[in-house]
Amino acid sequence: MLKHVIDSAEEQELLRAVERWVQREVAPRVLEYDHADRYPHELVEQMRELGLFGATISPEYGGLGLPAATYARIVMLISAVWMSITGIFNSHLILALAIERFGTERQKREWLPRLASGEVRGGLALTEPDAGTDLQGIRTTARRDGDSYVIDGTKIWISNGIEGSCFALLVKTDPHAQPHHRGMSLFIAPKQEGFRVGRKLEKLGYKCIDSAELVFDRYRIPAGYLIGEQEGQGFYQATGGLELGRINVAARGVGIADGALQLATQYAQSRKTFGKPICEHQAIQLKLAEMATRARAARLLTLDAADAFDRGERCDLQAGMAKLFASEAALENATESMRIHGAYGYSKEYHIERLYRDAPLTCIGEGTNEMQRIIIARQWIKQHPVAG
Ligand SMILES: Cc1cc2nc3c(=O)[nH]c(=O)nc-3n(C[C@H](O)[C@H](O)[C@H](O)COP(=O)(O)OP(=O)(O)OC[C@H]3O[C@@H](n4cnc5c(N)ncnc54)[C@H](O)[C@@H]3O)c2cc1C
Repeated sequence: MLKHVIDSAEEQELLRAVERWVQREVAPRVLEYDHADRYPHELVEQMRELGLFGATISPEYGGLGLPAATYARIVMLISAVWMSITGIFNSHLILALAIERFGTERQKREWLPRLASGEVRGGLALTEPDAGTDLQGIRTTARRDGDSYVIDGTKIWISNGIEGSCFALLVKTDPHAQPHHRGMSLFIAPKQEGFRVGRKLEKLGYKCIDSAELVFDRYRIPAGYLIGEQEGQGFYQATGGLELGRINVAARGVGIADGALQLATQYAQSRKTFGKPICEHQAIQLKLAEMATRARAARLLTLDAADAFDRGERCDLQAGMAKLFASEAALENATESMRIHGAYGYSKEYHIERLYRDAPLTCIGEGTNEMQRIIIARQWIKQHPVAG
């Protein structure tokens, strides 16, 4: 898993193909899609052809088996132009990762090839109306009934919830277990009777990708859909994908930070005040210098975490630092770029207003930045014990 070695010529070719696609197909349409908040079916079809739905799935199950570092570079490239569409394959690949890491061989053979081709697309259903950060507080339950489980509950904020057809669904199989995580299980949950979309959620940014409430009402699935076919492993399985998830979000942050910097750099050289381009005013130069430094630092932290992941090392500290820094860099660069654009930064005709609306999500998803700081601090202290 994620062990397929890609030589740098192969990587460069793939990155060039993605870059060409972004420039030819995505960039010219992004404003139109974003303003209409319309699901980009055509682009999704092209993403399927590029193999993005199988990017990190092993070749033996039909995927590209890319290392996390190559995958992160792809996410950065796309997010510099339109972060939203990376969400269509990001959480889909976390679902695939849960099956590939923890599923039985039968589950892998049944689901991974269809996920890799994009024939089945989906995501991760963890969050509930009363439980986001504190996942052990979820209330959705699965009750064993013969060869099936019957699931009842509600999930919220689920990316790809409307267009996707299959989700990794976190439930309680033993609501009375102490500690709670011992009673949690993760299921492969395809859409069928008993599983419906409650509503589409309206958002500040991150437009076009569907975020939905999902309702499970006497939803009956075969016992063989329990990932790994062992109860009580769900919390560990769901959070086991978070390192890659955090590298994903960090890469999105790098993309936005880069995109905002590029827009500001172009604008500052063409807009003139007091007889010269605004990039010649020191106040604007200071902003550009800080933005460029932040974008580069965010990229290096993210690739550092991705490289550690590819070496098979525990990398929650690096992934947490990358996620925290890159998402804050995205927010700060988007804000600064908007200021550099003056009134035009506030206009819907310019791209920066969209980056400004998209950036805050990176501070929330895959663990809020408040939680990232706590995770980093705990891990840091553990790694630096006082002798004696
Ligand atoms: C656009 C979008 C897409 C999403 N996609 C998905 C998805 O596909 N699947 C999915 O399962 N979820 C998804 N989520 C949900 C997301 O993961 C949660 O919103 C996130 O985990 C935070 O949970 P919460 O919103 O319930 O906030 P809460 O947990 O209620 O937190 C509220 C505030 O309290 C802080 N806080 C909480 N606990 C602590 C603590 N112990 N110490 C310090 N501060 C704390 C938080 O940092 C935050 O600032 C998505 C959310 C959004 C907005």
